[in-house]
Amino acid sequence: MLNNATRIQPRPPNWRAAAARLAAVILTPPVHHWIQRQEERIRREGRPLTRAEFASARNIGLKDSGRVRILVVAHIPLPAGWLLKGIARFSRVALADPVALTAGHGIFLCSAVAADPVVVRHELVHVHQYERLGRRAFLQQYIRDCLVDGYRDSALEKEARRLSIRAGRD
Ligand SMILES: [Zn+2]
Repeated sequence: MLNNATRIQPRPPNWRAAAARLAAVILTPPVHHWIQRQEERIRREGRPLTRAEFASARNIGLKDSGRVRILVVAHIPLPAGWLLKGIARFSRVALADPVALTAGHGIFLCSAVAADPVVVRHELVHVHQYERLGRRAFLQQYIRDCLVDGYRDSALEKEARRLSIRAGRD
């Protein structure tokens, strides 16, 4: 006879996590396509990093800092409304008015934060994450984590917050 300790306890299925994984797989190709178009625009219209930003990029560990471009805009462009609303509902965050967005080696900065080194370092960490994981894998993980854990508690956002503060200390 089995005692209680050896009896297998069936765990309830985590439907939310499963749905988020599936949604991330479905959403990644169109988001990837959109991100590539934004990166091309930033490459055409943006500026290279300043000396101070290069130093931050080195501290963060970027492989290709020379490729990074920054484009200051009045409003950060966002992908299709339906997509965004879906992600916002899942991740319980208002994505309506972000101050920055990173697309591969391209960074959009809202003019209100254009001179804020913490925001620039935060986005440089995202560039490094793109380099480390690859564009497609980064986007899939980013979307999935935002859907499962919420924007603020997603692993890639937590890393960006932590490293953007640390990179400013030295
Ligand atoms: Zn971020």
